[in-house]
Amino acid sequence: MSDKKTKGQERYDELAYKKQNYFSVASKEEREAIFEYAEGYKDFLNAAKTEREACAVAVEMAKKAGFAEYRFGDELSAGDKRYFVNRGKSVVVFRVGSKNLEEDGFRIIVSHIDAPRVDIKQNPLYEEGGMCFLKTHYYGGIKKYQWTAMPLALHGVVVLKSGEKAEIRVGEGENDPVFYINDLLPHLGAEQMAKAGAKIIDGEQLNVLVGGMPCDDEKVENRLKLTVLEILNRKYGMCEEDFLSAELSAVPAYPARDVGFDRALIGAYGHDDRVCAYPALTAVLNGESEHTVLAMLVDKEEIGSEGNTGMQSEIYSDLMEDICAALGASYRKARFASKCLSSDVTAAYDPNFAGMYEKMNAAMLSCGTCMNKFTGARGKSGSNDASAEFVGEVRAMFAREGVVWQTAELGKVDAGGGGTVAKFVAKMNIDTVDIGVPVISMHAPWELVSKADLYSNYRAFMAFMK
Ligand code: MN
Ligand code: MN
Repeated sequence: MSDKKTKGQERYDELAYKKQNYFSVASKEEREAIFEYAEGYKDFLNAAKTEREACAVAVEMAKKAGFAEYRFGDELSAGDKRYFVNRGKSVVVFRVGSKNLEEDGFRIIVSHIDAPRVDIKQNPLYEEGGMCFLKTHYYGGIKKYQWTAMPLALHGVVVLKSGEKAEIRVGEGENDPVFYINDLLPHLGAEQMAKAGAKIIDGEQLNVLVGGMPCDDEKVENRLKLTVLEILNRKYGMCEEDFLSAELSAVPAYPARDVGFDRALIGAYGHDDRVCAYPALTAVLNGESEHTVLAMLVDKEEIGSEGNTGMQSEIYSDLMEDICAALGASYRKARFASKCLSSDVTAAYDPNFAGMYEKMNAAMLSCGTCMNKFTGARGKSGSNDASAEFVGEVRAMFAREGVVWQTAELGKVDAGGGGTVAKFVAKMNIDTVDIGVPVISMHAPWELVSKADLYSNYRAFMAFMK
């Protein structure tokens, strides 16, 4: 027997398409870069669990990299490095390139910085059964039963009667208390366990436990509630009425951790979509470009990109129009020439749930960042569906720069579906395609990604900016 390939095998290798595992094709240096890049990402995850925090951290990183704030009407010239903050909840970091904006357009990378979570209601505080709780209303698509019986942190802001803003972030420090959503013991759980998954815990059962000690005065009707109110008053200057103008969220209190003996994976809350936002941000901060490049980190994707901080807001178009005006370019021409990578996560093939995936067109963990030509549900409903021409162009960019990447659909054709911000960018008359990191257990309190895919996503953005 000879090891020499047969003619047919050689020809097959030449003609047939095969996905590659990025770890196994990466050089030693590249493998080191993969692991090193993941360290910065984990720090970002731990510092930025809400869109407000992600926005603040992005601004801090931008300032450190020499970017200055941009306001509508500012002057601009080639080489400028700026960031534009939208109401503290979304941010656009950009570099002005030397190329003609009317001919070359913008190179845009969009990803979102909000994540599914459990929001606190506006009149939330009550006590019952020796426990004090906050009522909640969940945000985004969660499996409610996954959010019980685990440590939770509270993040957010309270706008006090005085108009002052108190910031709350409790549960992240090693010695901080955490919070909790109760679940039922299995001994009494027969009826609960017979329910459909969506009903195991219902929305009104997602109450966050925040206290358990009565105040000293026995005459007070709600003694546990007063204990909690006293602490909130002392620490944040708030009274109960201030919850009315608060935005508080319960998020998992776990930090990001390496997963696996080989540390190939990262487990964390909110990979969706920080695993794309961080590479988008760092690519624009680190990568010089002749193009005018923008990293848009947007809010409210998980609830349909609504409001004035979501991708459907006109502020992003206003900003690009303003940049064009500052550079004396026609906005209409510039956006027609623009290209966008809409960067959001996709579902990684999971052998434990193999039946939901069509393996040939599923994203494989560690095979690189994943392009979804289209998203949507059923007959591609609600999808951007990028053109073959644009996909071909992006593919050529990746080939030139040696990016290891793959393509996929979310799951089996009729298994379900999902959407991203891609269609809202495309609607501005901009060539747009979805690309992002495959995730295991998407929207769970603790999601999983591969370090190789994270770094591949960064490499893809750097190639796009070249
Ligand atoms: Mn997402
Ligand atoms: Mn999502």
